[in-house]
This record gives sequence, C-alpha cells and structure tokens, in this order.
Amino acid sequence: MANRPFIVGNWKMNGTRAMLAEARAIDRGAARHAGVRVAVAPPFTLIQALAENAETMAIGGQDCHAAASGAYTGDVSAAMLADSGASFTILGHSERRAMHGETDEIVRAKAEAALAAGLEVIVCVGETEAQRDAGQAEAVVCGQLDCSLPVGEGVAGRVTVAYEPVWAIGTGRVPSVEDIGAIHRAIRARLVTIYGEDGAGVSILYGGSVNAANAAELLAADEVGGALVGGASLQADSFLAIVLAA
Ligand code: PEP
Repeated sequence: MANRPFIVGNWKMNGTRAMLAEARAIDRGAARHAGVRVAVAPPFTLIQALAENAETMAIGGQDCHAAASGAYTGDVSAAMLADSGASFTILGHSERRAMHGETDEIVRAKAEAALAAGLEVIVCVGETEAQRDAGQAEAVVCGQLDCSLPVGEGVAGRVTVAYEPVWAIGTGRVPSVEDIGAIHRAIRARLVTIYGEDGAGVSILYGGSVNAANAAELLAADEVGGALVGGASLQADSFLAIVLAA
C-alpha cells in the first residue's frame, strides 16, 4: 500500500509558548485530513508542550546528539527527545551541515542513535547551487544517501528522506517540477540499492520554499511523497493549505 503523503513542518529556531495556539490549530486541521500524515518539529523547548496537546499530528525534534548522555553542554540526546514526546527527528538539515559542521558520518551516527531510542528519522540531503550548476546534484545527493543513511535489518521502514536543495531553502526559489522528478527518481533508485526492495517504500519528501501556492504542483512531481516545510509551517493557515494540497 502506498504511504500517506507526509507533510512535516520544521519550525527551526522559531516559537515560544505563544505558538501553542498555532500548533493546536494545525493539530485540529490534521484531524480533518486523515489521508495525510502531518508532523511538526518545533524547537526542543516546545516538544513536550506540543506533544501533550497533539491528538493527531506527530511531534519531532530537529536534531539530536549521537551519544546517549554525557558531557555535551547544550546538546540533547535521542532518548531525551523520545522522553519529551517526540516520535521522530529531522537529521542532517543543511543548516546543521553548514553551520555546525555535520558530516555524513555524524548524521549517520545520530540516525543510529535516534533509531535505537525508538524514534523515526527524516534524513535531509541536497546540493548547493554551485554543485547544481556544475552538474553534480545527483552525485552529491547520492553520496549523501550512501554515507548518512542508517542501514541494517528493518531500518528502512523507520526512515524518511527529505530532498532539500540548499539554494531553495528560504529563498522563494524552487527547482522545476521536471528537475524535482528527476532527482527524486535518482533518490528512489539509490534507496533500492541501499535497502533492497524495502527502499521502494521509503517516503521521499521535497523541501525548499514550499508554500500554499506551489504545493500542489511540487507534490505532484514523480516520487514526491510529501514535503518538509520551513517558513510556511509557522502559520496554521499556510501550513494547512499545504496539507490540503497533499
Ligand atoms: C527547511 O529549512 O527545511 C525548509 C524547507 O525551509 P523553507 O520551506 O522555508 O524553504
């Protein structure tokens, strides 16, 4: 059976308790669209509050540390996310890769820790503009998949991939539907190489400047199983319009 479309909001470093009403509105909207799987990844500080109130949507983290505990000031472990009510975590977002020096190997170690803590993982991949201009988009993305995805028996069912071209994040620019389809087909082929037949069931999300106006077109591209949404996930109205488009 095909997966339900998966629409995930990444609130990044936005939101205080004043956003709880927005989250409740998203959750009520999610309940009206049972054919779509809806999730929000708020900052760590809001996970517990959102998880306690959510009836339909899933709540997740935006990152975790690879270690279970220890002297890692400011970091949060996968078990802590789970303990706060998270059921998944985003990993390897390009902002983490660029601003925190996260390599593919670090992302994989975090993914293994998250799975061990009982979380699902959304692993982000995507090329920079210079890499796309150099014709390297597919090679870069496939290299990231090879080296940052967790592997092992039964793992594929708990993994989602988010394809997010770095140049499309927060810029209002998006690839053509044809380009999105082409790279999602390449990702699918690589997932099958990595996971065997289980790779056919892994959801692949598109992320990068998805909004209420372009969602229907982007979500219809080949192999796109949903969206990872940044800016447009901060208001219930715009986020739910994307859910509706799915
Ligand atoms: C993101 O950062 O994951 C993202 C997709 O952001 P935006 O939708 O704002 O481009």
